[in-house]
Amino acid sequence: MIKRPKGTYDLFGEDSKKWQYMESVIKKILKTYDFNYLRTPTFEETNLFKRDDEKSEMVTKQTYDFEDKSGRKITLRPENTAGAIRAIIENKLYLEKNKNFYYIGSNFRYERPQKGRFREFFQFGIEVINDRDYLVDFNVLLIASKILKTLKIKSTLLINNIGSESERAKYNKELSKYFTKYQEKLCPDCKERLSNNTLRILDCKVCSSNQFFKKAPKISDFLGKDSKEYLNKIERLLKEYKINYKYDTNLVRGLDYYSDLVFEFISSENQALCGGGRYNNLIKDLGGPDVGGIGFAFGLERLLNSFTFNDNDKLRCFIISDTLQKDYSYRVLNKIRDSNFYSKLDYSDRNFGKKLKSSLKEEPDFLIFIKDEEEKNKTVTIKNTKTQKQETIKEKDLIDYLNKFYKGNENA
Ligand code: AMP
Repeated sequence: MIKRPKGTYDLFGEDSKKWQYMESVIKKILKTYDFNYLRTPTFEETNLFKRDDEKSEMVTKQTYDFEDKSGRKITLRPENTAGAIRAIIENKLYLEKNKNFYYIGSNFRYERPQKGRFREFFQFGIEVINDRDYLVDFNVLLIASKILKTLKIKSTLLINNIGSESERAKYNKELSKYFTKYQEKLCPDCKERLSNNTLRILDCKVCSSNQFFKKAPKISDFLGKDSKEYLNKIERLLKEYKINYKYDTNLVRGLDYYSDLVFEFISSENQALCGGGRYNNLIKDLGGPDVGGIGFAFGLERLLNSFTFNDNDKLRCFIISDTLQKDYSYRVLNKIRDSNFYSKLDYSDRNFGKKLKSSLKEEPDFLIFIKDEEEKNKTVTIKNTKTQKQETIKEKDLIDYLNKFYKGNENA
């Protein structure tokens, strides 16, 4: 038997209903915040991701790369921001009035699979094309928080200001000097990071328990007046809008293009649900205009596992008919479905009693009985399973009957 590839999963059953609900919540919220859906290819030219200035492990070690039949170098996207920005530049979307975009799609990373970590996983994210502005940037945090609150997920926001390019350059130098002193004690990955990605050392789960780690220089000591004011304004709004947050000076993000604000939303089990930040040079570096952007990405599998879901799709009508009345019953069923009532018909030729017994297990609001008499008289017999009230009505009046019932029972 052929099995699914390692690190992938199939979505079905209750989870697939939950997934659709989750997507509908996200889409509804984004509409109210004036966002446009953007879809880009799942594979891109390799050099979109593998740029000289991008030293993150995700890009250098975890991508799925291949050559297509014509020898083009192709990479399955490990994240969606680079592709979204490529599309925004290529289609000149930065000239549009609305520069708020969102995407939902799969990403591919060759990582060691574990709980909440897959090799193909889905992200939903947003990108807002705008230069640094405390309100625009706060609004991005507010949207992520709104999604989590709507799904009733408890989380904590971690924020950091990793400063402007020049502030970060100074900090990087000091940090590198500091960690070089402890080089021997660093894990092999961090030894490598020392030469090409010093900031990421702060993120290392292996090294962070070391005593010397706690005394490392902090980016907050390298921020100028302007950066401090920007952060203060964001913190003031977080308090005003009651978003639970922690200022974490060790928070750095995987990708090298981030600057100023970076953030993560962490679940109560300490798992990252969403990560994001501001990027000021990415659009320019990819050949677009000199304008900044800010965005985030939620891991949808992790989001799915963090909330409970009650399926509200209640079965409205279950039709039970005699074998000879199946065609007539099928016509009635389609009429009901055309009016958007979730309904079923037992297609089998079992006897009436057996069909009745199994249909009751699905707890429909109504049972509709169709026998010889009903077909002859163009009627149906409808029974309210709660009140047990049963009546025979004209088939042509059935939709009015249901409409009237559900109008008066909106919570049914
Ligand atoms: P990142 O693009 O690495 O900042 O990730 C953003 C979010 O995507 C994370 O907070 C996770 O929720 C999710 N995520 C990242 N990598 C994986 C993965 N391999 N499997 C499942 N979810 C992931």
